[in-house]
Amino acid sequence: MPLDPMLPPTAEPPPTAPVLLVTGGSRGIGAATVRLAARQGWDVALNCRHRIDEAEALALELRALGRRALVLPADVADEAQVLAMFAALDAGFGRLDGLVNNAGVVDMGARLDEMDGARLRRMVEVNLLGSLYCAREAVRRMSPRHGGAGGAIVNVSSTAARLGAAGTYVDYAATKAAIDTFSIGLAREVAAEGIRVNAVRPGIIDTEIHASGGQPDRVAQVAASLPMRRAGRAEEVAEAIVWLLGPAASYTSGAILDVSGAR
Ligand code: NAP
Repeated sequence: MPLDPMLPPTAEPPPTAPVLLVTGGSRGIGAATVRLAARQGWDVALNCRHRIDEAEALALELRALGRRALVLPADVADEAQVLAMFAALDAGFGRLDGLVNNAGVVDMGARLDEMDGARLRRMVEVNLLGSLYCAREAVRRMSPRHGGAGGAIVNVSSTAARLGAAGTYVDYAATKAAIDTFSIGLAREVAAEGIRVNAVRPGIIDTEIHASGGQPDRVAQVAASLPMRRAGRAEEVAEAIVWLLGPAASYTSGAILDVSGAR
């Protein structure tokens, strides 16, 4: 039906855009993904844990682009919080077409024989269990078995999964290797249900994660030794993630894409 030229334009776009949830969307690779996806037409729910003000500021930026945006704070390591986050997503958007399992942590560089149990548990709970909880909830919304219409999941792994991170964080590397295996398995499990699952393996990317691992200067220190003589930018990883989410990647599933500048 043609629009009535006498009616004022509505402030909100019609709620027909695909909906994306990005965990850890407040900064770094997650925030770059949120920005790019919004520019390409996704409405976005951004999860974060602590930096709620930064997530809210980003949501305002997206709304200024005419996109719908929702901030959903939750610790992805806590199953109850993940369930509450997805319930809030259902209430706010009523659909889910894409999930980026991006929230992740490192810890101080150490050998395994120096790591305590609390650190090891936390690493597995955030990086692995958090992604499993969120992917499960996404499949419960995307799969036709549950009334869904398909979708795409991108898990953010790391080159540490194949390099091992000896002497710094073998625990982190092990969780990311598990993410790779999980991505292949889930992709095969839900391929016939219209859900694609892929992983992106970033190399060394210039974000704040290195400071949280006690190495704020890591990027500057290692840049010259990297194959491209520089670290990557969050935006360069976001390009791969958003491509994997979209229709241009319609026959790509179960893939693990290195975005590591040949590292
Ligand atoms: P970052 O700058 O440290 O940002 C981490 C994001 O994850 C933040 O939004 C943070 O939220 C969120 N987060 C952390 N723990 C969380 C939790 N328990 N629940 C919910 N959100 C949580 O990290 P990044 O460098 O962008 O890394 C993003 C992903 O890429 C991670 O999975 C990381 O392992 C992976 N990666 C990064 C690199 C790299 O060199 N940067 C390389 C390979 C892989 P708050 O802002 O609220 O704290």
